[in-house]
Amino acid sequence: LPEEFIKAQPIIDTIDAAGYEAYFVGGSVRDTLLGLPIHDVDIATSAYPQEVKQLFKRTVDTGIEHGTVMILDHGTGYETTTFRTESGYQDYRRPDSVTFVRSLQEDLKRRDFTINALALRSNGTIVDYFHGLDDLQAKRIRAVGNADERFNEDALRMMRAVRFASQLDFDIDSDTIQGITHHGPLLEKIAVERIHVEFVKMLQGNWPAKGLQIFLDTGLYQYCPDFKDRLSALQSLATTLTASAGDETAVWTLICTEFGLQGRQIDQFLKHWKSANHLIDAVRTAVAMVTAIQNDSLDDWTLYQTGETLIPIANQAATTMGLATRDTAQLVAQYQGLAIKSKKELAVTGQSLMTAGIKPGPILGKLLNELEYRVATGNLPNDAAQLTKTALELASS
Ligand code: ATP
Ligand code: MG
Repeated sequence: LPEEFIKAQPIIDTIDAAGYEAYFVGGSVRDTLLGLPIHDVDIATSAYPQEVKQLFKRTVDTGIEHGTVMILDHGTGYETTTFRTESGYQDYRRPDSVTFVRSLQEDLKRRDFTINALALRSNGTIVDYFHGLDDLQAKRIRAVGNADERFNEDALRMMRAVRFASQLDFDIDSDTIQGITHHGPLLEKIAVERIHVEFVKMLQGNWPAKGLQIFLDTGLYQYCPDFKDRLSALQSLATTLTASAGDETAVWTLICTEFGLQGRQIDQFLKHWKSANHLIDAVRTAVAMVTAIQNDSLDDWTLYQTGETLIPIANQAATTMGLATRDTAQLVAQYQGLAIKSKKELAVTGQSLMTAGIKPGPILGKLLNELEYRVATGNLPNDAAQLTKTALELASS
């Protein structure tokens, strides 16, 4: 067992000793069996939330109405969820009610895919009611039970299927594929923020083309914001992507470049995807740099505007698309060589220019922008006397 599980064994044992059952469940069990590193250890138990809370000194109610209590142990938090079944799903996204049950099998039955429905006992043995081990072996994603019903209950599972395909290099079982093909339109019932998370994880996987191709072949893409008319661009991306797309900014930079979006179009598109403003700003900037590379017009000013954090991301995106002509280290070195990295580093300020006799107002802002441009591009030394002189000349012309 990996050390994360060993460390958590006393928790399971405490619950056991009190007469309840407890198991490791979810992604950490799957990933351990695949020999992959794990992040969070999740625990499922027959004990009700109040019963769990009585057994441990330090707990946090992270989702108590769904049965989840976080147990804090030596600085690590363990999400511990009471066995439950779900029923209702009137709106294709969340169950109308959850019911706590005492049976592990019932709990595993409501999980999405067989590889995610395995439980691990504290002694290292596996509980496998749905042939999850066979599917792991066969590298197959298969819905627990009837795929149509499962996607009808919760349409997000279709996005989860394609993202696991990308992360694990797995195929999707044919009934499950059919389920996705039939139920794609239900994706429109799901909050875009949640689709966003799965879509990004898909392109960040180590086999992004795998999930993306299924996402296209099943028609799932049509039910995502602004994707419907962009099959050929998405298909071209599926052909190009041979490794993880990188961070979230890189993912959307690739998409926007592939779609040929610029400036405000990027804002609109990413707003439809409910992206945070800081992400939108970063993508707009990174796409501008990729476009400059594409047009063979990458210069000091572009690097200055892109900034140190986004230069590697933009160049990575350009590399993925086969556009980059220089390596990232070179570009970062060129950036490091710029006379200033931001307007704040200019040797003059609005205040100092006003003291020198320039009137406040919109002209002042324009002068500062011009000085910034000239200094950043190496056309003027960053020297207070010279900048003030230039500003006065420009102001009087
Ligand atoms: P990751 O490595 O990305 O965390 P994971 O499998 O742990 O993968 P989570 O979203 O953390 O995914 O969910 C934990 C477990 O909860 C899953 O393994 C699965 O058993 C169950 N689960 C999560 N989302 C759903 C869903 N929409 N429908 C059914 N079961 C789900
Ligand atoms: Mg998880």
